[in-house]
Amino acid sequence: MSVWDQLVGQQESIAPLRAAAERPEAMTHAWLVTGPPGSGRSVAARAFAAALQCTEGGCGECRACTTALSGAHADVTVLATEKVVIGIDEVRDLVATAQSRPSEGRWRIIIVEDADRMAERTTNLLLKSIEEPPARTVWVLCAPSAQDVMVTIRSRSRHVGLRVPDPEDVARLLVERDGVDPGLARECAYAAQSHIGVARRLARDPDARARREQILALATEIRGVGDAVLAAADLVAVAEEDAKAATEERDVAERNELLRTLGADDGGRLPPALRSQVKQLEEDQKRRATRHKRDVLDRALIDLMSLYRDVSVIQVGAGQALVNESHRGHIEQLAGRTHLTDTLRCLDALAEARKRLAGNVSPVLALEAMALALRPRTAA
Ligand SMILES: [Zn+2]
Repeated sequence: MSVWDQLVGQQESIAPLRAAAERPEAMTHAWLVTGPPGSGRSVAARAFAAALQCTEGGCGECRACTTALSGAHADVTVLATEKVVIGIDEVRDLVATAQSRPSEGRWRIIIVEDADRMAERTTNLLLKSIEEPPARTVWVLCAPSAQDVMVTIRSRSRHVGLRVPDPEDVARLLVERDGVDPGLARECAYAAQSHIGVARRLARDPDARARREQILALATEIRGVGDAVLAAADLVAVAEEDAKAATEERDVAERNELLRTLGADDGGRLPPALRSQVKQLEEDQKRRATRHKRDVLDRALIDLMSLYRDVSVIQVGAGQALVNESHRGHIEQLAGRTHLTDTLRCLDALAEARKRLAGNVSPVLALEAMALALRPRTAA
C-alpha cells in the first residue's frame, strides 16, 4: 500500500504533492494543506513527508516511510497541539530546526498541524523562514481553510485543498486498512459523515457507538420540559466524562515533567518564583479540557442534526441514502408523526446551539434551550 492510498477520495487534490515528491526539481518549500476536520490534512502532510524521504517515492513499507508516517523520523518534525494557541517559543524552536540540514533523510520537513492557531506575532516569526528556507527544508502547514491562516502565510505557500470524501470511500478504507467488517464499516462511515477519524473510532470502539446511540435517542425521548432539562444535563455530563478521560493522565504527566525540569520534584514547597510557571501550565490544561468538552458536544450536535436530516429526507421523499440507516425504523416513525416544518425547526435549534457553544455561552444553557426546542409540537 503506497503512502498515498490512505487519502481516500483525494487523489485529484493531492496531485501537486505527488508531483513534487516525484520531481524534486519542481519542489515548493512551503505548502498549505487545508480541508474540513476528518478529511485527512495531517495524513496528507505525513504521506508527503514519507514520499519525500523514501527512495521509492512513498512505498509505505521501508523505514523512511514508516518513521515519517508515525512522526518518529529524525528529519520530520511534527507540531501537533491541543492548545488553543500555539506558543511563540514552540515556533521559535521550529524555525531553528528548519535551519539545520537533514541528518539522515533527503529533506528536513516541518509539519505544523494547526497553523490556524498562531497569533500574528508568532506568524511573523515564521514568515522569513518560510520565504527563504535552506535548500533541503520543506514546511507543510495545515489548517481547516485558507482563510483561517494569515494572508502573509497564504501568499507565501502553495495551496492544496482536500475535500469531504465520499462515505463509500471511507468505508473501503476502514475495511482495507483496519480490517473492519464491511457492513459495520459502511454504517460507521455514514454515521461519521465521512469524518475518517470519527468513523474509525466508531468502528473500533463499541463504547463510542453506544454513546452515539444515546445521543440519537434524545430525539425521540424528549417529550416535556423536564426531559429536555435532564437531556441537556446528560449531554454535558457525557462530554465532561469524555474530556476527563482524554486529558487527565496527560495532565499529571505534564505537571510532573515541568516540576522535574524546574528541579522541584522532591515534593517540597515550590519557590514562589516557579509557581507562576506551574500556574500557567494548569491554565493551559484547563483550556485544553474546555476545548475538548466543546468538541465532544459539537460532535453530539452534529450527530443529532444528521438524524433530523434523515427525518427530512423521508418527509420530502427525496430517496437519498440515510446517514443513520440502522435507525430507519425510528426515523420513519418520527417522520410520520411530525411535519417537515417541525424537522426544520429542530435543525435550526441545533445549528443555533452549535453557534452559541462556539461563542462561549455556558454549555448547559445552550443545550437546555436546544433540548426545549426539540420537544414535539405536532399532535400525533
Ligand atoms: Zn518507502
